[in-house]
Amino acid sequence: MSTLCEELSRVKTYEYTAEDVVEFEALHEEIRALKKERNAIIVAHNYYRPEILKVADFVGDSLELALMASNVKDADIIEFCGVHFMAETAKIVNPSRLVLLPNLLAGCQLADSAPADDLRARIAELKKEYPDLAVVSYVNTTAAVKALSDIICTSANAPKVVRSLPNKNILFVPDRNLANFVANQVPEKNIIPWDGFCYVHQQITPEEIDRIRQADPELEILVHPECRPDVAKLANAVLSTSGMVRYAKEKPAKRFLVVTECGLTDRLAMEVPEKQFLKGCKLCTFMKVTTLDDVRDSLKYMRYEIEVPARCGGCSKRQGSALCVSLWLCGEKLFTTEPQRNTEIRE
Ligand code: SF4
Repeated sequence: MSTLCEELSRVKTYEYTAEDVVEFEALHEEIRALKKERNAIIVAHNYYRPEILKVADFVGDSLELALMASNVKDADIIEFCGVHFMAETAKIVNPSRLVLLPNLLAGCQLADSAPADDLRARIAELKKEYPDLAVVSYVNTTAAVKALSDIICTSANAPKVVRSLPNKNILFVPDRNLANFVANQVPEKNIIPWDGFCYVHQQITPEEIDRIRQADPELEILVHPECRPDVAKLANAVLSTSGMVRYAKEKPAKRFLVVTECGLTDRLAMEVPEKQFLKGCKLCTFMKVTTLDDVRDSLKYMRYEIEVPARCGGCSKRQGSALCVSLWLCGEKLFTTEPQRNTEIRE
């Protein structure tokens, strides 16, 4: 089995010294002891720092983390190493557990590009023209925006979710590139994109990808659907981060260009050492702001607790507030049992 030192030596985003590794090992020990004492589980997003991934009980994309959170049976605390909206989703699907986010600066520029009040106004405007309008929100949205939505999707299932709706006219929130990807996959629907984007994926240009491919034409190019359409066009496969992990493990190809946030390349380098992963990536400052010390301190001082409004306890109407999300999403496996209009997260 590889040692921590060997695994971290394969990471390209950071250069770790032997002293760093010794420090991480000591922190891992402290974190594991605190985890036991607090009866906590640590979940981490693919984009987090490698030394945090190595102490997590579960690593995945936002959907996998939400599903994981909904299936936690024994732990009292979910230490959520992701960004704020993800921790909120974990709390929504698991209201009885304490959800901690180790650093409150871990926000998301894409989620912030769709304020709930602006969305409410846009829905009212569009409904005049399209009475059958459905609002599909990407999971990268605040709880208040989820409450205004008919259904929630992830990058892994967005076309499937849109295709499943009876509505012809769809307001897709908040990522315009993912909306464009969905529009290409589901041409029978009228997709109206919200004009948001992820600054990390938006920075990646087709020229960069072309340059790398020209130098190595055998590379398999994996692109995240939050990338610009002219970048997605150059891909061998357009996939969510976990889709990329599966693809890289299962396909016979030996060399990949991974076009998303850099953290995924680091995870792949540690987990699939027999293959090579080149970076066509940028760093997300929100995903990288949290340190291993933050994780330790979070468990030590029980901070920072993520709250969503309590269940409204019986209201069956769509209220358009975060309060109702916790009601709609409190059913089994993220599905609501709310009998009228539902907000769902689908696998
Ligand atoms: S990579 Fe983009 S979408 Fe993901 S957390 Fe960072 S800003 Fe938000």
